[in-house]
Amino acid sequence: MDSKNVLQQIFSIPVEEEKYIIYAPLKRIAFIANTAMVNSIIDRCNRNSDKDSPHEFLEELDFFTPGTIPEDDFQYGVQYDTVVLFLTNQCNLRCRYCYASSGDYPKKEMSWEVAKAGIDFVLSQVQKRSLKDMTLGFHGGGEPTMNWNVLTRATDYAHKKSQEYNLNLHVSGAFNGFWSEKICNYIIQNLTEISISFDGLAEVQNRQRPSLGNGDSFEKVTNTMKRLDAAGWKRSHESAPLCSHKISLIDTIVVATLLTLK
Ligand code: SF4
Repeated sequence: MDSKNVLQQIFSIPVEEEKYIIYAPLKRIAFIANTAMVNSIIDRCNRNSDKDSPHEFLEELDFFTPGTIPEDDFQYGVQYDTVVLFLTNQCNLRCRYCYASSGDYPKKEMSWEVAKAGIDFVLSQVQKRSLKDMTLGFHGGGEPTMNWNVLTRATDYAHKKSQEYNLNLHVSGAFNGFWSEKICNYIIQNLTEISISFDGLAEVQNRQRPSLGNGDSFEKVTNTMKRLDAAGWKRSHESAPLCSHKISLIDTIVVATLLTLK
C-alpha cells in the first residue's frame, strides 16, 4: 500500500469550524488540525513522496506509511471477540439534538467488503483464542437499517460462520425503531439484543424526533416496540435525552412510557 492508500486509514473528524481531529487508529496517532493542515496532509498522501514534505514531525512518526492491524494484543489484555460496524451516516429521522447531524452529512456507507473484512478478522481472532462467543454490533447515529443490504448480508454471514465454527453469536445494535414491517421481522428473527432511542410521550417524540420530511414518528416506533414485546424480546433501554420542554413533563413521560409499552 502506498501513501495514497494511507488516506483510507486516516480520519478527519470536524469538531468545530476550522478545527478537525486527525485520527490514524492503526498508528495510534490523534491530533487537532485546521483546514489548511488537513488539505496539506491529503496533498502529501497524494504526492506519495516525502520530498519537501512540510510535515517533519509526522514524517518522523512514520505517519505516511501504511499501518497494519495488530496481529495480537492479547498480551495487553485485548481480546478481539466483537466487531462493531458503523454502516451509514444516513437517517430516516431528523432528531433535533442529533449528534450525527440527523443524516445531513454527504452520504457515506460502509461497503460489504469492509464489513466482511471486519467480521473475518474477529472470526480469526476468536478461533485463534478458542473463544466460544462472538459479537457483531451495529453502531447507531445514522440509523443502521438505512444500509439494509450490508446489515442483512453481514448478519447472515456472521450467523453462517458462527454455525460453521460452533460459536455463540450475539448480534446487537442501536436503532431508532422507525421501521417497516419487513425490517422489524428481520431484526426479530436475526438479532439478539438492541436498544431503541425513544422519547416517551407522543407529543415529545414527534416534536423532538420528527421523520425526514417532518412527519410524526411516535406511532411507528411504538408499533416496533410492541412487536418486539410480543415476540418476547427483553427491551434493553429506551434513551430519552432531556430538553427544557421535557423537563416540565418528566413525571408524565415515565408513566406514559410504561403504559404505552405494556
Ligand atoms: S435517530 Fe439517531 S441518527 Fe437519526 S436523527 Fe435521531 S439521533 Fe440522529
